[in-house]
Amino acid sequence: MARTEDNNYDVIVVGAGIGGLLLTYFLCKSGYKVLCIEKESVAGGLARCFRLGNKYLEVYYHHIFTTDIYIQNIINHFGLGKYLISSPSSMGIFANNRIYPFSSPWDLFFFKPLSLFERLNFGMQIMRISRNKENNRLDSLNAMDWLINGFGLKTTKLLWEPLLKSKFGAQFDEVSASWLLERIKKRSESRKRYMSREVLFYLKGGMQNLIENIIQSINQEGGYISLNDRLQYFIIQKDVCCGVESSKDKYFAPIVILTIPVPEFIDIFKKSISKFNISSSYIVEYIGRLEKIKYQSIVGIVIKSKEQLLDYYWVNIADENIPFSVLVEQTNLIPAEEYEGRHICYIGQYTNPGDKLFQMEDEYIFNYIYPYLLKVMPKIEKSYILEYSVFRDKYATPVYSSGFSEVKPGFNTPIEGLFIVNNAQIYPKSRNIDLTVWLADRLFNLITNKHFLMTNK
Ligand SMILES: Cc1cc2nc3c(=O)[nH]c(=O)nc-3n(C[C@H](O)[C@H](O)[C@H](O)COP(=O)(O)OP(=O)(O)OC[C@H]3O[C@@H](n4cnc5c(N)ncnc54)[C@H](O)[C@@H]3O)c2cc1C
Repeated sequence: MARTEDNNYDVIVVGAGIGGLLLTYFLCKSGYKVLCIEKESVAGGLARCFRLGNKYLEVYYHHIFTTDIYIQNIINHFGLGKYLISSPSSMGIFANNRIYPFSSPWDLFFFKPLSLFERLNFGMQIMRISRNKENNRLDSLNAMDWLINGFGLKTTKLLWEPLLKSKFGAQFDEVSASWLLERIKKRSESRKRYMSREVLFYLKGGMQNLIENIIQSINQEGGYISLNDRLQYFIIQKDVCCGVESSKDKYFAPIVILTIPVPEFIDIFKKSISKFNISSSYIVEYIGRLEKIKYQSIVGIVIKSKEQLLDYYWVNIADENIPFSVLVEQTNLIPAEEYEGRHICYIGQYTNPGDKLFQMEDEYIFNYIYPYLLKVMPKIEKSYILEYSVFRDKYATPVYSSGFSEVKPGFNTPIEGLFIVNNAQIYPKSRNIDLTVWLADRLFNLITNKHFLMTNK
C-alpha cells in the first residue's frame, strides 16, 4: 500500500526496530490500516545491519539462545528456520594479562586466580541461583551487594564486576539483584545439561534477513513504512491522542504505539502536553517516575581481519585499564567462509555520550584502541586489519537498577490511545530480541484481543 491520501490510519507505530516492525506486521495481517514511521534511513533499530562485502552483518553482535522460543517462532513463521545455524559458543575472561577459558562449568576448576574454596563456592552458588524461584524479593537489592554476600568479594570483583560492566559500563553498581538472577538462570537454561557447553543460534544472512522479510510482508499486507520520518509531537484532542506530527507530515489514527526508548518518549511527551495545554498531577507523577529510568550508550567497532584474532567467540575484559569491555569474534561462532574467508570481530563498550570513545572521530578510534587490542590479542598484527566500522547508540539499554519494578512503565500512558512498548518493560529479564517479540505480541493482544504467537510460555 502507498500512503493513504488523507493520512488517516487505524494505527500509527513509531519506530521500525524489530518491535515496531513486528507490531506493524501483526496489525496489518489482522486487517488494520497501519503506518510505521522511523527516524533513521534504515529499519532494524539496535538490530540493524550494514553491508560488509556482499553480506549483511549486524552493527552489534546478535546471537539467539536455544531457549529464545518467541524469536524462533517468528523466524519459522517467515520460513527462515533453515537459516538458523547452531554452534557451540566459547567464552573467555581476560584477567591478569591473559585469557582464561570460561566456556563450560568445568573451566572453573582450572581458573587459578580463585582459590579451590572460592571455585567450589562459585559452582554451588550458581546451582542455588538456578533453582531460585523467589525473584521478587531481590528487586530492591543491589546486585553487587547480593553477589559479595554469596560469592565473596574476590570472586565478585574478578568474575561478576566485569560481566556487569560489559552490560552497564560505569553504572554497573546500580543494577538490581533481580535482573542478575534472571540473567544467570537464562544462561544456565541455555545449556542442555548443566556441565555442557552453551549452544547458540545465528541467523544466516544476519537479522537483515528477518528485517527484509518482515518489511516485504508489511508491504504485501497493505502497511506502509516511512523512513527518515521523525516523530515530533503527539496530536491530542480532549485528552485523547488522535495522531502524530512528524518531520515529514501530520498523520491521524485513534491508536498510536511508540516503540522508542523512554528518554526519547519523555522528551516528546513533555513537548506535546505543553503544546496542547494538558496538565494533571497524575501526568507530573508519571513523568517523574519515568525520569528515574537511566540508559546506557554503546560504542561498537567491527573489524574485518585477514586472520583469526581470538580463540573464543566471546571474551569479557576484567581489566580496568582497557577501554572496552567485550570482544566478540563472530567467525568463531559461524564459519569465516560466510564472509569470503575474512574474520569478523566486534569490540564493544557500554558507555555514556560524554565518554572519550563515544565522542572520538571514527578515523582515530582504531589507533587509540590498537595498543589495548595487542594486550588481549597477542596474535594481532596491524596488517591483518582490512577495514573497520564504528557504530554508536545513545540508548542501547535501560539500566535495570534496584527497585526498577517501581518505575517500570506499563503499555498504557496517561493519554488515551497512546501506548508505549520497549525494553524497559522486560525487567527483570534481560533485554533481547526474543522478549521484544513477546512484548509486541502482548501489546497486539491488548489492542486486538488476539495473540499472534503460537507459543506463549
Ligand atoms: C550491543 C548490543 C548487543 C545485542 N545483542 C543481542 C543479542 O545477541 N541477542 C538478542 O536477542 N538481542 C541483542 N540485543 C538487543 C536487541 O537488539 C534489542 O532488544 C532489540 O533490537 C530492541 O528492539 P526494539 O524494536 O524494541 O527497539 P529499537 O531497536 O531501539 O527500535 C526503536 C526504533 O525507534 C526509532 N526511533 C526512536 N525515536 C524515534 C522518533 N522520534 N521518531 C521515529 N523513530 C524513532 C529508532 O531509530 C529505532 O529504529 C543487543 C543490543 C545491543 C545494543
